[in-house]
Amino acid sequence: MSRVFADLVGQDEAVGVLRHAAAAAAAIIEGTPGQGMTHAWIFTGPPGSGRSVAARAFAAALQCATGVGCGDCHGCHTTLAGTHADVRFVVPEGLSIGVSDMRALVLRAASAPSGGRWQVLVIEDADRLTEAAGNALLKAIEEPPPRTVFLLCTPSTHPDDISVTIRSRCRVIPLRQPPPSAIASVLASRDGVSPDVAQWVAAAAQGHVGRARRLARDPEARKRREAVLAVPRRLTGVGACFDAASALIAAAEAEAEAAVAETDAAERSALETALGAGGTGRGAASAARGSAGQLKDLERRQKSRATRAQRDALDRALVDLAGFYRDVLTLKMRAPVAVVHADTEQLASAAAEKWTAESTLRRLEAVLACRDAIEVNVKPRIAVEAMMLSLWRG
Ligand SMILES: [Zn+2]
Repeated sequence: MSRVFADLVGQDEAVGVLRHAAAAAAAIIEGTPGQGMTHAWIFTGPPGSGRSVAARAFAAALQCATGVGCGDCHGCHTTLAGTHADVRFVVPEGLSIGVSDMRALVLRAASAPSGGRWQVLVIEDADRLTEAAGNALLKAIEEPPPRTVFLLCTPSTHPDDISVTIRSRCRVIPLRQPPPSAIASVLASRDGVSPDVAQWVAAAAQGHVGRARRLARDPEARKRREAVLAVPRRLTGVGACFDAASALIAAAEAEAEAAVAETDAAERSALETALGAGGTGRGAASAARGSAGQLKDLERRQKSRATRAQRDALDRALVDLAGFYRDVLTLKMRAPVAVVHADTEQLASAAAEKWTAESTLRRLEAVLACRDAIEVNVKPRIAVEAMMLSLWRG
């Protein structure tokens, strides 16, 4: 059976297409032309819908000895673990993927697959390609080597996310936001989370499978979420708004720092070892100049990755906050839908008594506007302070 697709929650249609394509790909390797396989794919869907999970599973199915993505063979295992020699994952560490990285990857992807099946290039966050990198990729997609497959992940096929010409050469697999019930049942049946915990984290994660899993497992993540959901009742005056803004930013910074600290330290010590710190022989001086450059380069990449981790953490907090104001609005309107945050439902219904529907909507819009502002590079502190003031005034 094809087990590699089991992690794709609530995506039956997409899984059907990918299974069919994997079977066709296996037929091509056997020498019988199959229908349904193509060399360039785009996986789209909202954050948490499983774009990269889908791409990884499909890559595994392509490398699977049985051609279905059994999950047990060497090809499946190494692909899922990220160590298969013919599967390259491009995960942008900073805010964009540069042209020199892309050229190197494209060149590698053009070589014959060492395992005799496919050369697969998975580009996560393809929306973060620079224009020049996009052009380098387009060239490769337009003239694909016979056994090379490109898997791109983007939030949507909007021209802001992926160029129209790349889009036109790819087959698109749209993933939908999985319903909370589907997430809850996966957490309960596969991860062994108790059913009632699974249910509330699935709702609180608002369709984001990875977030639901983190909330179920990590007490720190739950604590951070609670601090965010305490914001609405802390806004009692202008001073409190600025305090709340500082606290939210500091929390995002701390979360991001924890997320990247380990990788940063490991990378730095690996580089220092490789450069052989010390040395006095001939050429040591010029070697030292060269290694200073490499260390600088590493620091630049790490800084860029830290910035991105901070933005991601802040964005998660804003999504949680938006969920609260959405709850207030649905309670106010008596909409027949479940609340996002079951644990703050009482607070939300007290707010619904107090606020008008219009002022609730303005608050929700203030959170969404803050997300948009940060997305277009407004300084996070300024955007968050403006949001807090709007949340307080209503
Ligand atoms: Zn397999």
